[in-house]
Amino acid sequence: MTETAEKLFRNGDLSDEELTALIMDNDSDVSEMIRRHADETRRKYYGNKVFLRGLTEISSYCKNDCLYCGIRRSNHDAQRYRLSHEDILSCCENGYKLGFRTFVLQGGEDSFFTDGFMCRLISDIREKYPECAITLSLGERSRESYRLMKNAGADRYLLRHEAASQELYSKLHPAEMSLEKRKRCLYDLKELGYQVGAGFMVGAPYQTAEHLVADLRFMQELQPHMIGIGPFVPHHNTQFAGVKGGTLELTLRLLGIIRLMFPKVLLPATTALGTIAPNGRELGLMTGCNVVMPNLSPENVRKKYDLYDNKLSSGEEAAECLEKLKKSIADIGYQAVSERGDYVDYV
Ligand code: SAM
Repeated sequence: MTETAEKLFRNGDLSDEELTALIMDNDSDVSEMIRRHADETRRKYYGNKVFLRGLTEISSYCKNDCLYCGIRRSNHDAQRYRLSHEDILSCCENGYKLGFRTFVLQGGEDSFFTDGFMCRLISDIREKYPECAITLSLGERSRESYRLMKNAGADRYLLRHEAASQELYSKLHPAEMSLEKRKRCLYDLKELGYQVGAGFMVGAPYQTAEHLVADLRFMQELQPHMIGIGPFVPHHNTQFAGVKGGTLELTLRLLGIIRLMFPKVLLPATTALGTIAPNGRELGLMTGCNVVMPNLSPENVRKKYDLYDNKLSSGEEAAECLEKLKKSIADIGYQAVSERGDYVDYV
């Protein structure tokens, strides 16, 4: 298997069979080799920089019913909140003072956040912080909505495709949701000039190595600027409550493979990775990740954005503990920077 990993590092195109075998292999020597190559590759394009993004979770209302998600509409025990225009601006103000130069606004699909609301908000953030990047992650909207928000000043959009295999997508989502629509949104966003992020959960229920190969192939076709992957973590109020979550080992294996297949991509060490292992974030950064997204939401709502059980939102995951986070990043040989952190070739 080391030859396959070496071939990937040397920019060799792996066959589906080779990729499947590399995903399924759990030899620790191969993992270490992938980790070293992934680290070398990230350093080639981004040095030892780790880009910080301030994440504000603007709403826990969601009209969707993704079977795995804690804020799905049919979870009647979920605590719902939405932030106001002023709340969100004050999160940005706080984030700016802390040194963030990218603001990420994420939320469930909440019809309260109309195009008018979003465009006014984005224009206000753009005017106050002209040098900062604005990233949105608000799910599926019309091409026109994406266009209006781009014109108002948004730069990037995160929309995980969730599962590129139709068979797996249908097992994780209700019939009213469509993989085709999700993919269309991603292509619309790309055509409109956003820096685009796709991604998926690792170790999702029913997921096989072949499904993961389909995810990698879809992303090769889309060529996203950002890739968000993290372990699936069960939520107690979903039908997957008792199901085994994604493992640290498999998530790291995928992160390393992704860094080698998409050398210039912006790759976060996600909150979910930090949630399943105390040193998950650090291991992610050592395996090709170059982004972290501490939580800037008001403290009284953080626990309510409850996507999965035990989701971290305090300590180094919280924006106010940034100095601690920066130190733990420095301790493993990287440098957290106050920069927009655009995709290296983005013009
Ligand atoms: N509504 C937006 C969207 O659909 O892209 C953004 C919010 S959505 C809750 C953010 C991400 O949370 C999803 O893309 C999904 O992959 C992740 N997520 C949801 N439930 C999860 C779980 N149980 N374990 C890990 N990640 C989960």
